[in-house]
Amino acid sequence: MENVLRTLIWDEQVSLTLVDATEIVNEAIRLHGLSRPAALVLGKTLSVMTFMSACLKEETGEVSVSLKGNGRGGKLSVSGNYALRIRGYIDCPQAVTEGGDEEAECLGSEGSLTIIRDDGYSRPFVGACALNSSGSVERAFEEYYRISEQLPTHIAASIGFTPEGTCAYAGTVVLQPLPFADEETLKKLPARKRLEEIAASVKALGLEKAAEIYFSAKSAGLNLRKAEYKCNCSKEYLSGVLVSLGKDQLKDILREDGEIKVHCHYCNKDYRFTEEDVEKMFP
Ligand SMILES: [Zn+2]
Repeated sequence: MENVLRTLIWDEQVSLTLVDATEIVNEAIRLHGLSRPAALVLGKTLSVMTFMSACLKEETGEVSVSLKGNGRGGKLSVSGNYALRIRGYIDCPQAVTEGGDEEAECLGSEGSLTIIRDDGYSRPFVGACALNSSGSVERAFEEYYRISEQLPTHIAASIGFTPEGTCAYAGTVVLQPLPFADEETLKKLPARKRLEEIAASVKALGLEKAAEIYFSAKSAGLNLRKAEYKCNCSKEYLSGVLVSLGKDQLKDILREDGEIKVHCHYCNKDYRFTEEDVEKMFP
């Protein structure tokens, strides 16, 4: 089912995006065995990156973020592409917090956020900003948009869990006023708290209903798409990466370890390459 909705609202002066990333977050929990704080922080990052992927204009486009904070979760890496295939991991998937704000303790309040956006043709765009002291994933992305893209952006992501630790809902709302938006329209932007409440109700209401109720979006202009958690790794792809190490080095590893093991952090999968595989790489 479609889980990303984009449209223009309020006389086409504001761009609205709603994301229901519940399934994406559950797949991340399943693949990485995430603790609740890790699922919260990685889940929010996957949600916002689903939005950023939906903004890509080229079919060959890809966007990735590296969030390096000083919190207990360590570094987060999330990538997405034009086809809305999203994947990501956190350095400490079992991170536990000490009873304060789970998100802030897991992410940290110092560090950096780096975005790499590649349209597949020209030199990739790289933008970065420092993490602010809020310890919030959304505030970090808002800061990035303000500083690096000069685009005022309002983001609320809300994630709830079941007692078993799976994701019950993961809703995200993103509002971007267009450059010509007038004063009256800007006044209509909901306060942060309200935006969080709206994000929390996206799954229960459904994307279209939420867009209509909260933002008077007309059903005619809705762009609905399906995003999923999917890694693009394969044995073929990784053998292309190994080739760049050169035959001699690969032979050395084979001599020492008997095989070459490559681990994909995004989907937690191990790939094994034998002597025969290496021979095939260098025909
Ligand atoms: Zn993978």
